[in-house]
Amino acid sequence: MGFYWAAIAALFGVSGRFGGNPGMTQSRALVLFSGGQDSTTCLAWALRRYDHVETIGFRYGQRHAVELQQRPVILGRIGRFRGQLGMDHMIDLSATLGALGGSAMTDDIAIVMQDNGLPNTFVPGRNILFFTAAAAVAYRRGIHVLVGGMCETDYSGYPDCRNDTIQSMAKTLALGLDYPIDIETPLMWLDKAATWQLAQDLGGDDLVRLIVDEAHTCYVGDRRHGHAWGKGCGVCPACELRAEGWRRWRE
Ligand code: ZN
Repeated sequence: MGFYWAAIAALFGVSGRFGGNPGMTQSRALVLFSGGQDSTTCLAWALRRYDHVETIGFRYGQRHAVELQQRPVILGRIGRFRGQLGMDHMIDLSATLGALGGSAMTDDIAIVMQDNGLPNTFVPGRNILFFTAAAAVAYRRGIHVLVGGMCETDYSGYPDCRNDTIQSMAKTLALGLDYPIDIETPLMWLDKAATWQLAQDLGGDDLVRLIVDEAHTCYVGDRRHGHAWGKGCGVCPACELRAEGWRRWRE
């Protein structure tokens, strides 16, 4: 019976949701939610998987701060895809990351490839800071699972998106807080086409439409130009990746 239950639970990607056993601890997760395609998909994924889902977002002086305006729009509409949406936590790290500076993500400079093979959109230490802040909030909220949209399949080579970094981070945070922390990254091994498919699987056309219309990706904050895959300049690396994934998914 135990095996059967586990198999069913695994098949549907649920934990502690079936049956409503009152003795079962409510499963809770905190999603790093920027308002972009990846984190919106992760949020939908978490809402399918956990009883109670809270979100955390960061202001860090990003040029595409327009993504932050999209967060409440998406939060207002995604709850109906299932699950219990809880508190949204907004953390301002702009003084910290702004002071470190020197990135095309935070400064008004052209996006170029650097000598080390990384685009200058890389914000050194960003995800490490994000997870540290998220873990501190999770600690306070009695949450043991963090969910992030990091992916090392087709990405820009950011070292802080690698699975090794994330899993090492989870271990460090658990040790440093003396508090169990798991980091789930459902997109880690998916390419952008598969990420669109995951959205379709999780929430059908409605979720895909919500992501197309409201989830923001464009690095330069363009929401004036509309495309089949969403709004954006269409030429920055983030738009290119999103558009290319859409094309491959639709083919
Ligand atoms: Zn763009």
